[in-house]
Amino acid sequence: MIASKKKPLEEILGYLQDAQSVFIVGCGDCATQCETGGETEVAQMKQALEAAGKTVTGTAVPDVTCNILDTARLLRKQKEAVAAAEAILVLSCGTGVQSVAESQESKPVYPGVDSLFSAVTARKGQIYERCVCCSDCVVGDYAGICPMARCPKGQLHGPCGGYDDGKCEVDRNQSCVWTLILERAEKTGQLERVLEHMGAAGVKDYQANRHPAELVFEPRRAGRL
Ligand code: SF4
Ligand code: SF4
Repeated sequence: MIASKKKPLEEILGYLQDAQSVFIVGCGDCATQCETGGETEVAQMKQALEAAGKTVTGTAVPDVTCNILDTARLLRKQKEAVAAAEAILVLSCGTGVQSVAESQESKPVYPGVDSLFSAVTARKGQIYERCVCCSDCVVGDYAGICPMARCPKGQLHGPCGGYDDGKCEVDRNQSCVWTLILERAEKTGQLERVLEHMGAAGVKDYQANRHPAELVFEPRRAGRL
């Protein structure tokens, strides 16, 4: 999931300074888990905008806002309320914001949250970064733990010089990712493999990570989907 945090209301009101009427879109998936764009937060935002003198013409919380077709379909069901708004505020990650923008060609669309990182949810309210979407996954060489995402320096070939007694030099409260990798490798019988890759050069294809990336199935490219 994509972790997100709320933008300050002042920033949102800045975006909306030329819009008296607003339609609010949330997201039933990641932003709901992060408590930034679920039904509750959309209702709270509606209240806050109305308290600031805005008219909220309607709200919608798609199941997964980054699905352009489903989101567009849901907004079509409320087309009068959407049409009555001078702007749309989206409480979801940046992909959700752009998903809404793609279906609302003539309407300004603004983000109400900041996207943070690609994450796992350990428990409700405990969300941790685990992947930076590098396009060449190497966790198979590192006992299932990603050094790209979990080391502040992205050290791929072993701990940096600041490693101290198992802790990370950037944050002494955190274990160095290499402590985690080696501990897990011992438990899973992968130590030899990990040690082989620590210090190895050129195991990673950095060129795979290009932007804008795309994933289009061949049948779709060939017009068969
Ligand atoms: S190696 Fe790349 S794809 Fe795999 S978890 Fe780490 S950042 Fe994500
Ligand atoms: S101590 Fe470990 S986790 Fe921290 S920056 Fe160095 S290599 Fe990365």
